[in-house]
Amino acid sequence: MQPAPQQPGDRDAAGPVAVWLRRDLRTADHAPLRAAAERGPVFCIYCIDPREFGATPLIGRPRTGAWRARFLIEALADLRQALRGLGGELLVRRGRPEDVLPAMAREFEWMRLYYHRHVGTEEAEVAAAVEAGMERANCPTARFAPQTLVDVDALPFAARELPEVFTRFRLAAERQGPFAEPFAAPAAITAPDGVDPGALPSLVELGLSEPEVDSRSAMTFTGGATAGGERLAQWIWRGEHLARYKETRNGLHGADYSSRLAPWLAHGCLSPRLVQAEVARFERERVRNDSTYWLTFELLWRDFFQLVLCKHGARLFWPSGLQGITVPWSDDLAMFERWRTGTTGIPLIDASMRELLATGFLSNRARQFVGSFLTKNLGIDWRFGAEWFESQLIDYDVAANWGNWCYVAGVGNDARGFRYFNIATQAHKYDREGDHVKRWCPELELLGRDTVHTPWEIPELERRMFRIDYPAPMVDLESSVERWRAAWEAAVGTSDQR
Ligand SMILES: Cc1cc2nc3c(=O)[nH]c(=O)nc-3n(C[C@H](O)[C@H](O)[C@H](O)COP(=O)(O)OP(=O)(O)OC[C@H]3O[C@@H](n4cnc5c(N)ncnc54)[C@H](O)[C@@H]3O)c2cc1C
Repeated sequence: MQPAPQQPGDRDAAGPVAVWLRRDLRTADHAPLRAAAERGPVFCIYCIDPREFGATPLIGRPRTGAWRARFLIEALADLRQALRGLGGELLVRRGRPEDVLPAMAREFEWMRLYYHRHVGTEEAEVAAAVEAGMERANCPTARFAPQTLVDVDALPFAARELPEVFTRFRLAAERQGPFAEPFAAPAAITAPDGVDPGALPSLVELGLSEPEVDSRSAMTFTGGATAGGERLAQWIWRGEHLARYKETRNGLHGADYSSRLAPWLAHGCLSPRLVQAEVARFERERVRNDSTYWLTFELLWRDFFQLVLCKHGARLFWPSGLQGITVPWSDDLAMFERWRTGTTGIPLIDASMRELLATGFLSNRARQFVGSFLTKNLGIDWRFGAEWFESQLIDYDVAANWGNWCYVAGVGNDARGFRYFNIATQAHKYDREGDHVKRWCPELELLGRDTVHTPWEIPELERRMFRIDYPAPMVDLESSVERWRAAWEAAVGTSDQR
């Protein structure tokens, strides 16, 4: 990773400093904020960028759906309160950062602008436009390292040479030794005098409506570092769920089978180092085992995908993915719609897609098999799925989402040929009694464990008797996968050619 072109502390002049906030909505372990607080009045500013609330290009869904937008608004409110508690203020402005920030720099005669680098390609383009504008406004900027667990500058390879295989990255990361400790929020921040803080946005203003909370959700997510810290305390310390995480993490339902910290990590309400520091403290004070290690392992997956995006840039969004495999993806929107709305006729898929629609969250296991079904059974362009997740997920993160989708579609960082999730096996292993299916597909709730995953096997007479109003499966699970395996292998040449 390239070092920041200009480091903070390079000029001594006193005067107002600005901190541009994006996906780093917290006060603790925040390097730009800490550096700014030492210098004078701080303009902490968040821009409501209209581009983030437009439609996705392929499927025309809101880029930021209501679940995530609500979380964002809550996170901004929480950050505003935290900054006010320190003497500071969160300024909220509408508009493109490259317009808003240089104009404010001129108006308020900022001495500098500080911000965290973001690995996203669009985010980098916006940052480049901001940099150009700030130069014209004669205001120097300083970029701080992206928010990863590992110190990317201390890795034995540059971003360009990042290994394509996770394990090689992980071993190098683990050899770094203990991860850097997070640091506390500044003791005090001086807010600029007489500046309008600006109102927080409402969902209506963003063109969205309040999402309806479904009583079947295992957990509700509230945006902000306060709620994130509470979740950390509850999951790691009070419930001690971390001590069993490796055994439970593949669960489909419940609040505690995994940490569910992703929404707070994705919005930067918690930094990965803050989470890791709690894991390390738990290991010192309670227990250290495979489960505690596994959370660190998953945080390294998060880092890995951040670096993958840094290395490959826009290529991560190509239909042929990082491997350049030109699979003849289908763009059948009617089929896609059945997947999106949970009406494929395959209960395990439908239950999961309805859960995502109703809650804005989905377990990691379910994300994997619904992704596999879309791409390996239906052969639909994986980017349609990635766009739907982008719209719907509370924890959407550009690198994690597109990196995982590319991987699941078989065109990303996966060196093991055509791999798919056998839906029957997944159902048997992870939803043996059919609880997940019955929760989200109530029309199947009277069925027993033998038929709940295969309602198409029930004789017509019985279907009528039980009033089962459920669609026939849109594909045969076995033959459809063979069809797309053949297409994938033809596109590669032979499956072991890479
Ligand atoms: C198709 C697909 C799309 C995904 N999209 C996203 C996304 O937009 N945002 C996102 O944060 N995660 C994404 N993931 C990864 C993973 O599913 C979620 O991070 C996880 O389910 C969140 O639940 P949790 O916080 O309980 O995770 P835990 O199991 O408790 O893991 C702890 C943390 O590690 C990180 N993590 C875990 N697994 C992964 C992974 N495979 N890749 C990257 N980071 C990981 C997350 O930050 C997570 O919060 C996606 C996975 C798939 C298969």
